[in-house]
Amino acid sequence: MTIKRKICPPGLKNNPNKPISAINAVTIHTTGNRDLSATAGMHADYQFGGSGGREASWHYTVDDVEIWQSFEDGQMCWHAGNKAGNEQSIGIEICVNKGATGFAIACRNAAWLVAELLTKHNLSVAVVKQHYNWSGKNCPAELRSGEWGVDWEGFLKMINDAIEQIKNAPSEEGAFSAGQLGHPASKQSLREGSSAEKTPSDWAKEAWEWAVGNKITDGTEPKGAVTREMAATMIYRARSLK
Ligand SMILES: [Zn+2]
Repeated sequence: MTIKRKICPPGLKNNPNKPISAINAVTIHTTGNRDLSATAGMHADYQFGGSGGREASWHYTVDDVEIWQSFEDGQMCWHAGNKAGNEQSIGIEICVNKGATGFAIACRNAAWLVAELLTKHNLSVAVVKQHYNWSGKNCPAELRSGEWGVDWEGFLKMINDAIEQIKNAPSEEGAFSAGQLGHPASKQSLREGSSAEKTPSDWAKEAWEWAVGNKITDGTEPKGAVTREMAATMIYRARSLK
């Protein structure tokens, strides 16, 4: 999946403006908002606007279609209701806006994100905590009760499965590395580009999402130029799909 980013600016009430002391844990929450409109994107906008002036913030929000990052991993957030939890853990909110079916998919997406973070920060699944573990709050409520078919054990299993998949995937140096499909000229345009350049055209959307989902391309620069070696690599990957 692509992690979309809308990093909160400093100076807002929801931003501690402080680095995390050490990343020792990942804390799981559920948003508690069952309104259909309470998507990951909506929560990213909410945080970007300062969380309504509340001292409330977390790093990632995940729903059944998207992952949004609001704070860098190394930046402290206020989500655990506990000093150690805030100072040492990455906070992830899982959306509950689409009932049981959407929740199961959102949990799978969140498990993938957790697996990526554990791998990136060299941590084991043992450091994945519930909000409850820090402060005693009944959160993530839907995972704690298992009322929507995924309970905490099931979620941990999803994370373990995702870790295995990442381990078995080609390495960063391998054919799927993002850099290899980057083009120096178009990289520049991406940095300076408008959001229109980062979004595929309507006519290409379905194919683009298929290609990204199957790791044929890395999801950046939909409008960047393609060299012959890049085209060959993408065709090769498509032919290798099982
Ligand atoms: Zn929580």
